[in-house]
Amino acid sequence: MLGAIIGDIAGSKYEFNNVRTEDFKLMGAGCSFTDDTICTVAVAEAAMSDLDYAAHLQAWCRKYPHPMGGYGGRFSKWIRMDRPEPYGSYGNGAPMRCSATGWIFTTEEEVQQQARESARVTHNHKMGLLGAELVATGIFKMRHGAGKEAAAEGVEAAFGWLPEYRPFSNPFSETTMNAVPVAVSCFLASNSFEDAVRKAILVGGDSDTIGAITGSLAEAFYGIPDDLRAKALSFLPEDILAVYDRFQKAIKA
Ligand SMILES: [Mg+2]
Repeated sequence: MLGAIIGDIAGSKYEFNNVRTEDFKLMGAGCSFTDDTICTVAVAEAAMSDLDYAAHLQAWCRKYPHPMGGYGGRFSKWIRMDRPEPYGSYGNGAPMRCSATGWIFTTEEEVQQQARESARVTHNHKMGLLGAELVATGIFKMRHGAGKEAAAEGVEAAFGWLPEYRPFSNPFSETTMNAVPVAVSCFLASNSFEDAVRKAILVGGDSDTIGAITGSLAEAFYGIPDDLRAKALSFLPEDILAVYDRFQKAIKA
C-alpha cells in the first residue's frame, strides 16, 4: 500500500510533464499524493472492513474532490452517482488501486477474487479485472518469498507484450494494457525499491500511476527503506495516516 503511495507522490508532478533527466529528486518540491493514493486508501479500507469497494471509493473521492491531477472523466461522474454502476473501463485505475488486497487476504484465490472485486465496481472490462488480479497476485506471491519473476507471471499472455525497460520510452497512456506491462518492466529492471520507483518515473507516460503500480510490486519484493517511508508519510493527512496505521496492524496480525 505505501509502495503505491510513494510511486504516486514521486510521479505526481511528472504525470503531464514527463521527467527529462535521470537526475531528479524523489518526492521533491511540487509533489503531492493524487487520486492513486486516495483510491488505494479506499480499497485498503474496504478490504479491512465490509468489502464494499464502491462505497469506500465514493466516500474517499467525495472527501477529496480535487486531488492533484484530478480524476479521470468517467470516474469523476461515477463518484457522484447515487447508484454507481461499472462502466466497462480498462483504464489503469484498476491495477493502481488494488495493492492492499495482495496484503490483506490470506490465500491466492481470495487475493485474486478481491482484487477483481475492487476493480469490478468501475473497471469491469476483462482487461481491468485482469490487470488488478495480476498485480495483486504478484504482490501476494513476492511477499510470501517468491522471486521477482512472480510479478511478470501472466502479463505477456494477458496483454500481448512485456517490454524491456528503456528510459523516456513510454508514451502517455491511461490503459491497463500499457500500465501493467510497463510497470512490471520497470520493476524487473530494478535493483532496489528506490531504483524501481525512479525507473517508473523515468520510463515516461502516466507517471504517478506507473509509479503506483511499480511501487506496489517493489514494496512486496524489497520492502521500503525507512527514510522513504518517513518522507512519504509526511505528505499524508491524518485520515489517510489512520488507515495506513490500521493496515499495518492488520497485516502484522
Ligand atoms: Mg493520479
